[in-house]
Amino acid sequence: MEKGQLHFDYIIIGAGASGLMMADAMGRDDFFKEKHILLLDKDVKGNNDRTWCFWETGEGPFDAMVSKTWNQIYFRGHKFSNNFLIAPYRYKMIRGIDFYTHYLERMGSYNNVTCAQEKVLEVVDMGNGAKVITGKQQYTAKAVFNSIFDYKKAKAQHKYPVLQQHFIGWFIKTKEAVFKEDIATFMDFSIPQKGNTRFMYVLPFSENEGLVEYTLFSEKLLAKEEYENAIEAYIRDDLGCLEYEILDREQGSIPMTCYPFSENNTPHILHIGMAGGWAKPSTGYTFRNSAKKVPKVVEHLKSGKALDQLDFKDRFWFYDLLLLDILHKNNRLGQPIFESLFSKRKPQEILKFLDEESTIWQDMKLMGAPAPMPFIKALFNRIF
Ligand SMILES: Cc1cc2nc3c(=O)[nH]c(=O)nc-3n(C[C@H](O)[C@H](O)[C@H](O)COP(=O)(O)OP(=O)(O)OC[C@H]3O[C@@H](n4cnc5c(N)ncnc54)[C@H](O)[C@@H]3O)c2cc1C
Repeated sequence: MEKGQLHFDYIIIGAGASGLMMADAMGRDDFFKEKHILLLDKDVKGNNDRTWCFWETGEGPFDAMVSKTWNQIYFRGHKFSNNFLIAPYRYKMIRGIDFYTHYLERMGSYNNVTCAQEKVLEVVDMGNGAKVITGKQQYTAKAVFNSIFDYKKAKAQHKYPVLQQHFIGWFIKTKEAVFKEDIATFMDFSIPQKGNTRFMYVLPFSENEGLVEYTLFSEKLLAKEEYENAIEAYIRDDLGCLEYEILDREQGSIPMTCYPFSENNTPHILHIGMAGGWAKPSTGYTFRNSAKKVPKVVEHLKSGKALDQLDFKDRFWFYDLLLLDILHKNNRLGQPIFESLFSKRKPQEILKFLDEESTIWQDMKLMGAPAPMPFIKALFNRIF
């Protein structure tokens, strides 16, 4: 070790969703009891910078942090709309700040985890371990888990299209009761599509409070005004609300791509979270995906195998690829595809498929719902 370098067994970069889940899994596992784990983040994680939603059946590991659940979701297309009861699933919501606070508190109770607020400048595989250079210090470790996400490498290639789930959301408080508190609007495609896949996503917290989010699955971001004008119009015309206060805002861009992020892994550096390609390419849902992947990373780590031998690619990756190829070529097809799914299949079947927990027969049945031609063409193009 060079002078001025500190050594840890493991370094986790980023105390966001995947970094904290990873640190928690290692913190409470006796296998890592005698190990030294460093968790680095450039921020203090004191802001409520995002709202996570996901669906699951029954009780789950995050229930203590869940601030709202819905048993019904609403889908609206051009010719079809419905409120669906989704039992045995529930749609669950966690406020970012509740997750950070809860998990950082847990970190304090683990003797093997050290937290530091430092900005990481560089991560290098040294052959016998990895080096992490921050603004303050240099660290070495046997293995590094990196959750710093960057679109650059994905966008530098052309084999796999790179779309984004991009959105701006307003948390509003209304004078009149305008929200149906028990029903989360999963996708409302009734808004002008303008050649893209655009929908409204609404999370009602009470009759007077909710999050209204204008969302696209497309290649390029819009000017801020375009998202905000659309939210304004939706609150006025669809919710019929004229008097409201904006309490807070959130915005985001989640990668929708089948680009193999795992190519950036090395024997001693594993990318996790969005940086590891854990955002579901066809939907952008990442949170529960991360929770499902972390135990697999821990198992892999215990096996002593090189980190770059871990790969999560399966048949769902290929289904996602076909959908993204279609949306990339003809972005307006998102609405008819999702509308056929929700009008012809049960929501439970759709949620199970999106969770990548369906059987091949269930996959075939589900994928038979939308018009087949775009999928056949996309398959043909990928094969030949
Ligand atoms: C507003 C918003 C809403 C979302 N809603 C949902 C949802 O409802 N459901 C869902 O499944 N997914 C959702 N996502 C997508 C995804 O779940 C989140 O982005 C999630 O936080 C991704 O986890 P992560 O660990 O990959 O990244 P992050 O949680 O962003 O964590 C990365 C961490 O790295 C730190 N970092 C970055 N650069 C450095 C550096 N140089 N040095 C040190 N630290 C650094 C950051 O401060 C951050 O804490 C949402 C995303 C956003 C932005």
